[in-house]
Amino acid sequence: MANKIEGLSFEQRHGKQRVRVARVWRNNDGRHSIVEWNVGISLLSDCVNAYTRGDNSDIVATDTMKNTVCVKAKECKEELSVEEFAVRLAKHFTSLYQQVTTAIVKIVEKPWERAYVDGQPHEHGFKLGSEKHTTEVIFEKSGALWLTSGIEGLSLLKTTQSGFEGFIRDKYTALPDTRERILATEITASWKYQYESIFSIPQKSMYFNERYLSVKKALADTFYGPPKEGVYSPSVQSTLFHMAKTVLKGFPDIAAVQLKMPNIHFLPVNLSSKDNTIVKVMESKEATFSSHSPSLFPTPTTRWWSKDTVAIVTGANKGIGFAVVKWMAELGVTVILTARDKERGCKAVEALRAQGLHNVAFSCLDVSDPSSIKSFTLWFKKSYAVLDILVNNAAVSFNDINENSVEHAETVMKTNFYGPKLLTDALLPMFLHSTSSIGRILNVSSRLGSLNKLRNPSTKQVLESETLSEKDIEGVASLFLEDVKSGRWKSQGWPKVWTDYAVSKLALNSYTRVLAKRYEGRGMSVNSFCPGFTQTSMTRFKGDHTADDAASVCVRLALLPPEEIPTGKFFLWVSTSSGNVIPSKL
Ligand code: NDP
Repeated sequence: MANKIEGLSFEQRHGKQRVRVARVWRNNDGRHSIVEWNVGISLLSDCVNAYTRGDNSDIVATDTMKNTVCVKAKECKEELSVEEFAVRLAKHFTSLYQQVTTAIVKIVEKPWERAYVDGQPHEHGFKLGSEKHTTEVIFEKSGALWLTSGIEGLSLLKTTQSGFEGFIRDKYTALPDTRERILATEITASWKYQYESIFSIPQKSMYFNERYLSVKKALADTFYGPPKEGVYSPSVQSTLFHMAKTVLKGFPDIAAVQLKMPNIHFLPVNLSSKDNTIVKVMESKEATFSSHSPSLFPTPTTRWWSKDTVAIVTGANKGIGFAVVKWMAELGVTVILTARDKERGCKAVEALRAQGLHNVAFSCLDVSDPSSIKSFTLWFKKSYAVLDILVNNAAVSFNDINENSVEHAETVMKTNFYGPKLLTDALLPMFLHSTSSIGRILNVSSRLGSLNKLRNPSTKQVLESETLSEKDIEGVASLFLEDVKSGRWKSQGWPKVWTDYAVSKLALNSYTRVLAKRYEGRGMSVNSFCPGFTQTSMTRFKGDHTADDAASVCVRLALLPPEEIPTGKFFLWVSTSSGNVIPSKL
């Protein structure tokens, strides 16, 4: 009520907040009910004199208001809803006091719920529930009414069928796009009824309690979707809109709905640490992880990629490379399956398309042939131009498990080291235009190429150096090939098992380090990954696990969320018999 008093604009209301009252109804059949209300009263009245002259004759004392609440609660012979009680109070204050023109009554009901013992509703036992039923009644002496009900603290969560993507992305944005996340919120809702006078409100007992429960159910049901399949939520905003619409459509006496739904975030946690016994990140920039069953690895929880994300996989007509393409395509990445033999490559693509994977394209690529790398790069630049992921998987080994011949050392070095290096160098500019915040290069390598397999101290020193360069690595590779040519390779401290293959992977791992260092902090992640002893043609199908298993881990590593993906690491997957399952991504 705004007035002009002594030339000043004057507006006042007086009242009493936080009046706590409980009412118990003890029915004859022994069944009790209880409500506990926290009541706030504001009265608008003509009591200017109290302010200007110190005359309190128009003031209703807060003590009176508090007592009134208790008396009015006591007078309620029958159970009633919080809305009905608020209307009664407001009506009382405007009718009893001549000066009071409007009463505003706000009540929050404490959520006491009947307890159940041995599945039976208890006669007089109650427990505290969670969300609270609220109301606000504004009642004028003239009979005009505004009635609002609400819910406070309705916490809802769903573990899938929620995403958030396509939002504004700029240099301040770290959040990746996702189509798979937990959606959780604590809702504060209020809805205004159409009733404009106390004569128009339904006389049915507990009518507003029923409405409250139905609106709460409608809100929750819309949030969750049907029990089996749920409903996809592209954002909290979209879900909020549908929830409000459901209430407005479903309840004709509700005129307006207001919803506040702050997002409660569940952020994925990277559990890897230096001391973690399950996931160990080694000082030598190597990381091991073990899992009895790779199928138990969680699928990526944060989906930062889309169908516009492009990956190239080399040597993908069979074995691990083929399975990597399959996993990536299943997850919705656009994949270029490459193979040195056109027919074998096309057959592989056909097999994937027969499984419904149409986001796979084929191109010929022999990584041991620089002219093939050149024509592939030209084709890719023309057809796609932008690259997000490169998996250097193609490799050869000419030895059987227990053999150690270096007869094909030159081809092995060309294919396993120079090939991925030349290809990476040619494709690096195409990462620049990638829309994902981090370009990813994953070199599929081998533990046989670990530094500790090298027994020649001077070569080891070169490769361990912090200032290692590509030239140094090429120097080591040339030295090895010279030793092979001169027949001295056995005495020069090169790795003892699958020597040529091991040196090629040693060079590849070193290249990973150099490249990672060169691009550190510049939006590139470069890692090596050893799939472990895998059943493929390279091992004559001996091994601890299938190519599919190894590839699923490889893909998870390649698709780690931008904030979790490391760089310059060597990841070694070990499938153990102990049944260890990593609780983190890696
Ligand atoms: P496979 O022999 O099954 O597959 C190798 C793939 O590389 C084939 O598609 C092959 O094509 C291709 N390839 C060979 N040479 C070239 C070339 N010059 N240009 C293009 N593609 C080529 O072996 P895996 O699947 O086991 O090997 C995949 C990766 O995993 C390799 O890097 C390997 O070193 C690594 N690895 C494998 C282990 C295992 O136990 N299997 C252990 C540790 C590492 P084609 O069919 O035409 O020969």
